[in-house]
Amino acid sequence: MVYDVVIIGGGPAGLTAGLYASRAKLNTILIEKDRSGGQVNTTEELENYPGIPEDQPAPELMERMTQQAVNFGTKIIRDEVVGLEDFGDYKVVKGKEGEYKTKTVIIATGAQPRLLGVPGELELRGKGVSYCATCDADFFQDLDVIVVGGGNSAIEEAIYLTRFANKVTVIHRRDTLRAAGILQEKAFANEKIDFIWDSVIEEIKGDGIVESVVIRNKKTGEVSELETNGVFIFVGTDPISGFARGFVEMDEKGYIITDENMETSVKGVFAAGDVRKKFLRQVITAAADGAVAAAAAEKYIAERE
Ligand code: NAP
Repeated sequence: MVYDVVIIGGGPAGLTAGLYASRAKLNTILIEKDRSGGQVNTTEELENYPGIPEDQPAPELMERMTQQAVNFGTKIIRDEVVGLEDFGDYKVVKGKEGEYKTKTVIIATGAQPRLLGVPGELELRGKGVSYCATCDADFFQDLDVIVVGGGNSAIEEAIYLTRFANKVTVIHRRDTLRAAGILQEKAFANEKIDFIWDSVIEEIKGDGIVESVVIRNKKTGEVSELETNGVFIFVGTDPISGFARGFVEMDEKGYIITDENMETSVKGVFAAGDVRKKFLRQVITAAADGAVAAAAAEKYIAERE
């Protein structure tokens, strides 16, 4: 059995690739290790995806994208991909549960939250340290929490956390935020959000549960301790591309390099979404990448038949 298209990853890029490939009548499977939806499932609102009603929860949109791909014929398989091999006419996608022979591959594995890398972080993960506000915010009803980072994720999730927490303190390593202007405006206007600028967390402390953080001001060198119940870390993401290392060309951070048709350094292997080296990582650009990758896979197959 040789599939036409094997898609790895069930976020917006993979699901859109599935929709386009199966709608083009290509025999398509999508391999996903968790529930489909990807990182979007860890956020609540999607303000910047065109045509979405304000009160539409982001995970619901992902459910609809999944259903749409499935309705056109994409088969979703639960497995974790660990390697890839190229045999010219066909490729083999190696999973923990099985091997999948295919004419083309679309890598759409996205990215995952980066760790802060300070003492206490791993020990207190799930015990007050979190990387997902949507998943964990309601544990912090009327409590004080810290958000680390100054990008879109940090500020968006800080605003979301104010629905639950008593106070949200954003600790950022510089004195200006990286997040989009509209998010900055909302955060500065929110009375529940405080900022600690030019500062980094050096340690997360707690006996079985988060109790405080040690903060160092980068400008003055002053070290202080702040009591808190939770630490939400949003300091960027890393691509999920380890299984393809040495197989396709990547940049120094592990983002996969493609041409404008999403084709990687290996013919017939494409990459789409956040895992790709690109300028703008958003749901809309991930979905667009998925559409292009599927159309390019269709063309690749047609030219060889
Ligand atoms: P990001 O844009 O890379 O921001 C990471 C933030 O963490 C930056 O403010 C950075 O500081 C800080 N940081 C990095 N390493 C740190 C460290 N070791 N200690 C302390 N602070 C550290 O990452 P993101 O916010 O997770 O977003 C990832 C991608 O998804 C971005 O492309 C983003 O635009 C996109 N995204 C978009 C939306 C949206 O459009 N609604 C929502 C979420 C995410 P510096 O600023 O000093 O570098």
